[in-house]
Amino acid sequence: MNTPPSKIICVGRNYADHARELGNEIPDRPVLFIKPPSSLVALEAGISWNTAWGSCHYECELSLRIDRPLQGETDAQKALQAVGAVTLGLDLTLRDLQDQLKKKGQPWERAKAFDGACMLADWIDVSEVKAWDQLRFNFQVNDEIRQQGDTSLLIFNIADLLVDINQVFSLQPGDVIMTGTPAGVAALTFGDQLTMTLHGQTQDFVWKTFVK
Ligand code: ZN
Repeated sequence: MNTPPSKIICVGRNYADHARELGNEIPDRPVLFIKPPSSLVALEAGISWNTAWGSCHYECELSLRIDRPLQGETDAQKALQAVGAVTLGLDLTLRDLQDQLKKKGQPWERAKAFDGACMLADWIDVSEVKAWDQLRFNFQVNDEIRQQGDTSLLIFNIADLLVDINQVFSLQPGDVIMTGTPAGVAALTFGDQLTMTLHGQTQDFVWKTFVK
């Protein structure tokens, strides 16, 4: 299924070690924000941003595709059944600008929802997920592992996230949820070669992109 998303819902601070590395408190409910479909950019296109706004950080995240409509669902199992595919994505963030916006108490969209701020790899059928709390992935910059994700370490697990999100936003087929990034975020530099690896049930899925 290739329905374009009506929205991409992102979860902030869902790994305690990442919240700490940016000096943020551990949240008592999920921190949510949205990227519009216009922020999507293909792996092959590579990453670019307006350098007048300062640094751009990578945040590699397990991402979910919703295949069935979901509205106000409170049953965790039913919510999970609406997920049809998974992949890895990059929640690209203009960190210097985001820091300025945070200090002023302003919304983050300028730093996180700009054109090119969301890169999603190819969708993998949900049958590759053995258990929602046992998914692991990693992110490499120029062959050095910078981030390691493990859904057993999420502050809010996938089922709880879906239920919480669905009390706020109805979900349509094609909608995407980015579940938060582990520690290790840092600034990208021109020419960086980036590799995302998702450990599936039967094989590893590997995707490459670059900073142009
Ligand atoms: Zn993120």
